[in-house]
Amino acid sequence: MEKIDTIVIGSGMGGLACSAALARAGQRVLLLEQHYVAGGMTHTFKRKGYVWDVGVHCLGEMDEGCYPRKILDWLTEGRVTMHKYDHVYDSFTFTDGTKIDLPGDREEYFANLKSKFPKEIEGIEAYKTAVNKAAKSGYGHFFSQLLPTVLSRFLTPILAYKFKYWSQLTTKEVVEKCVKTPELRAILTAQWGYYGPPPSKSSFYIHAVTVRHFWYGGFYPVGGAQVFAEEMIKTIEAAGGKVMTRTPVKELLFEDDKVVGVVIANETQTKFYAPVTISAVGARATIKNLLPATAQQTTWAKNILKLKQSPCHVALYLGFQGDIKAAGARASNQWFYESYDMEKTEWNVHDANSIAPILYVSFPSLKDPKHKSEMHTGEVVTFVPYDAFEKWHGTNVRKRGDDYLQFKKDLEERLLNQLFKWMPDLKKYLVFHEFSTPLSTEFYCRAPQGAIYGISPTPERFRTRELRPQTPYKNFYLTGSDVGTLGVVGAMVGGLLTAAKLRPKIWKEFR
Ligand SMILES: Cc1cc2nc3c(=O)[nH]c(=O)nc-3n(C[C@H](O)[C@H](O)[C@H](O)COP(=O)(O)OP(=O)(O)OC[C@H]3O[C@@H](n4cnc5c(N)ncnc54)[C@H](O)[C@@H]3O)c2cc1C
Repeated sequence: MEKIDTIVIGSGMGGLACSAALARAGQRVLLLEQHYVAGGMTHTFKRKGYVWDVGVHCLGEMDEGCYPRKILDWLTEGRVTMHKYDHVYDSFTFTDGTKIDLPGDREEYFANLKSKFPKEIEGIEAYKTAVNKAAKSGYGHFFSQLLPTVLSRFLTPILAYKFKYWSQLTTKEVVEKCVKTPELRAILTAQWGYYGPPPSKSSFYIHAVTVRHFWYGGFYPVGGAQVFAEEMIKTIEAAGGKVMTRTPVKELLFEDDKVVGVVIANETQTKFYAPVTISAVGARATIKNLLPATAQQTTWAKNILKLKQSPCHVALYLGFQGDIKAAGARASNQWFYESYDMEKTEWNVHDANSIAPILYVSFPSLKDPKHKSEMHTGEVVTFVPYDAFEKWHGTNVRKRGDDYLQFKKDLEERLLNQLFKWMPDLKKYLVFHEFSTPLSTEFYCRAPQGAIYGISPTPERFRTRELRPQTPYKNFYLTGSDVGTLGVVGAMVGGLLTAAKLRPKIWKEFR
């Protein structure tokens, strides 16, 4: 590249969206990724002809006219097709056999709930209103994030006062105020897995924005999640930019108090210089891995580091041969709950007799209209405590030792058995399985503590003023899901926010 306008570190959805937005504003961006493939949690991987997504099961708000869809179209110049995969996009099954379908029509969903819980009609209405108000309150918050730090100190209390109210309530507080029936409370909060912490710990804002995200159905990218990176890279390259994989950034380069570029962790310690550098690797990883150790002592860093990471997960990647629909597999995501207690979120893997309180089961090949063969894929996700894996932190992939392999094998078998308890007919179609742990997420995506969604969306997280594009360092910015909100669309919005902070004219595209 003759001239680099901006360096972006990390090619997850946040880094890709920020780079593509700057490219559309005429910049030459150098996007650096440590992994051998771009995409971060939207990357895919292959084994024996099967392809799995790492972190994309379901996206909402992709109907024509929705803002997330407009943003995606602008960043990819309309080259990504989003497929609404089924009228029912999620379904919950509880141990007592109760099954709740989530149709991609808000009114139908609430009408179903009202006919099932007729004494709660008013409470359901109150909940619906609360979700709407809380989700909409985010606009003021995001706008205030774009203001210079000093100005935002004065204006945020005015611009984001509604956000402050809703984001500081927990999901449990709001839901318990609206409805009384324990089963209904469980059903209304059962999608907690899409954002991480249980109802007593999550901010009601993240709950509201997540459930509202899916009120008009679930979408899947035609061709699989890798198309996001493939198509945004085309936008970046068309403007003269470049994306380099296998290029881990070791540290930021400073001149006095200004960030002037990055050093690559290779033999020659290659340096790249640019007027602006943006980190899309997550706020915690930025402080711990890219900034000098002294930065950790600043109030800015301390306020970020005291926030918890979101939970971590284990995943089963399954390969099937044959008509898995006959065994109950569907395009819609299936959530299996071992109890109605939504506070039980982690599988206590320390206990050899424990079972996972929740299984999230998804069949990506059934969601993709391009997929024509009988080689189907499945994924099972559940949450685990990081401390069960911590002793192998820092060991190399495939060289973690026999005790790790044994532990992993045991968990894999237990999870498979639990899946076949819920979906016994699937077993005969299974021809391949592989298991990932939080150490895999740490290794492939460099997510600290294997966190599934970056910083945990608690009330404290939304009180923290430091999670915004601007940092205390000149010419250095943050982006991605820790700046926007979690999820693919949250990270994309984070990317756009940072790009718009640098090039405010970008907003004109979305008037
Ligand atoms: C199992 C799972 C299921 C999910 N399901 C959904 C879903 O159905 N719907 C949804 O909306 N969201 C889902 N998500 C969440 C969603 O994928 C993420 O919130 C989002 O993609 C995060 O984007 P990001 O850009 O902020 O971070 P990331 O995707 O984590 O990107 C960070 C990037 O930075 C790179 N990096 C780190 N350090 C360096 C360095 N030093 N040098 C160079 N590169 C570096 C990493 O390799 C990575 O590519 C899921 C996530 C997981 C794990």
